[in-house]
Amino acid sequence: MSVWRDVIGQEPAVATLSRAVEDPAAMTHAWLLTGPPGSGRSVAARAFAAALQCPSGGCGECRECRTAADGTHADVDVIATEGLSIKVEQARDLVALAQHRPSLGRWRVIIVEDADRLTERAADALLKALEEPVPRTVWMLCAPSVEDVIITIRSRSRHVRLRTPSVEAVADLLVRRDGVDPPMAMYAARASQSHVGLARRLARDEHARIRRHDVITLTTKIRSVGDAIDAASDLSTIATEESQASSAERDAAERTRLMEVLGADPTARTQPPHIRSQLASLEKEQKARATRFSRDMVDRSLVDLLSVYRDALVLRTGAPTALVNEDSRQTVQQVAQVLSSERLLVAMDAIGTARERIAANVQPLLALEAMALDLRLPR
Ligand SMILES: [Zn+2]
Repeated sequence: MSVWRDVIGQEPAVATLSRAVEDPAAMTHAWLLTGPPGSGRSVAARAFAAALQCPSGGCGECRECRTAADGTHADVDVIATEGLSIKVEQARDLVALAQHRPSLGRWRVIIVEDADRLTERAADALLKALEEPVPRTVWMLCAPSVEDVIITIRSRSRHVRLRTPSVEAVADLLVRRDGVDPPMAMYAARASQSHVGLARRLARDEHARIRRHDVITLTTKIRSVGDAIDAASDLSTIATEESQASSAERDAAERTRLMEVLGADPTARTQPPHIRSQLASLEKEQKARATRFSRDMVDRSLVDLLSVYRDALVLRTGAPTALVNEDSRQTVQQVAQVLSSERLLVAMDAIGTARERIAANVQPLLALEAMALDLRLPR
């Protein structure tokens, strides 16, 4: 077994990283791991961290390997933002941490999972640390693409590019690691377009499958302006519900834990001011997290939607490519019958524009309504 076993379909990247583990001349103090969402950037970073800590270079079995991979190693810090950005204060904390020698391990590893979410000031603060490397400290920055990271950070780190793994590789992983049945694993890998995390969720969560199906079938329902407005509202509702369902329990647990830490009486009708202010800042954090999650969910729905028009185009052109929505072939056929290739491209453009606008902080519902108007089928 090896620490790299879950880093699937990334042979060139794994070759580069394992060479760095073995050969000090191939090692450097800052790495930039890029790859599309779901390609396994953070899995790769954790595997690299484990290989660096492991006395045998990444056996995958020892204590160092296991704790580095599951995020409990004392000298491996993983920073994942759940809000919309990583703030300068957080970046300064990391820079301070980077000055310390590793406590037990061979390296101090700091993994920043969303380096594309560093604010400008946070990126500046971090840059100083990258400019003055500390021996035995390694930074691993993860982002969707190099363009998402400011150029000064890019130029001070070594770039390793991950690619989208094949559908088969993702399905294999679900079967091997998560015990998913092979046909379900294949459906989930295909429907998620090789997004490992999402494939896992689709395979294990029926609600996620229903949500996806609802989004796919919207494509055959939009005929009038009224339908378009309804479809936009449905998309937005689906995202909000999914976001609330996943956060309600966690939000409540965090609140209870904070009350315990502060020694507050959970049954008291009013809390003293210092507790109120702590609770208010927790709620603010939770709200930022919900906003980000709900936006991510909308984006995910748009990727699902896009896949239907892409599949319809595949059918129309008769290309021998596999459909993403093999399980919803009838829906795809219906769309392919009524929309010309030109209209399909217009629909795909409209979805792309909506994704860009939402990423640029346009209110999602507005962007979705504008998009849905371009998805209308001829009457
Ligand atoms: Zn090991």
